[in-house]
Amino acid sequence: MLALTDEQAAAIRAHGEADYPYECCGLLLGVFEDDGRKTTREVFPISNAREESAKRNRFLITPSELMRGERYARSKGLDVIGFYHSHPDHPAVPSSYDLEHALPVYSYIIVSVIQGRAGELLAWEMEADRSRFNPELLVKGEENACR
Ligand SMILES: [Zn+2]
Repeated sequence: MLALTDEQAAAIRAHGEADYPYECCGLLLGVFEDDGRKTTREVFPISNAREESAKRNRFLITPSELMRGERYARSKGLDVIGFYHSHPDHPAVPSSYDLEHALPVYSYIIVSVIQGRAGELLAWEMEADRSRFNPELLVKGEENACR
């Protein structure tokens, strides 16, 4: 279960629209709760490091960008709890490429951006044996949770 505020969802949608027709990507920073729920505290946009020709259907987060995000998260007492990216003109469903490059534990948000407008936003969680993605329940986070 992943908690996301309306504000955070809007930020992900806006990033997807801004980077259209390319894929956008970023980190979800927050807290792994004791009951297994993840609570998003901040959305951390990252620029897609893929070369021009592949950006439409691939995203890449370089290790240095990931480290920058992790350092920032730690400075705020947060963890990287997941990743988000957009699917320009495709449904918000993980691709086989996404499966190959994902890790269990994290949440994966995908937002579908059709002709420049963000649509469906879904969360996915990888099966522990890495065989497939399962839909993850998205719940509304608290807008004024303490940071
Ligand atoms: Zn994807």
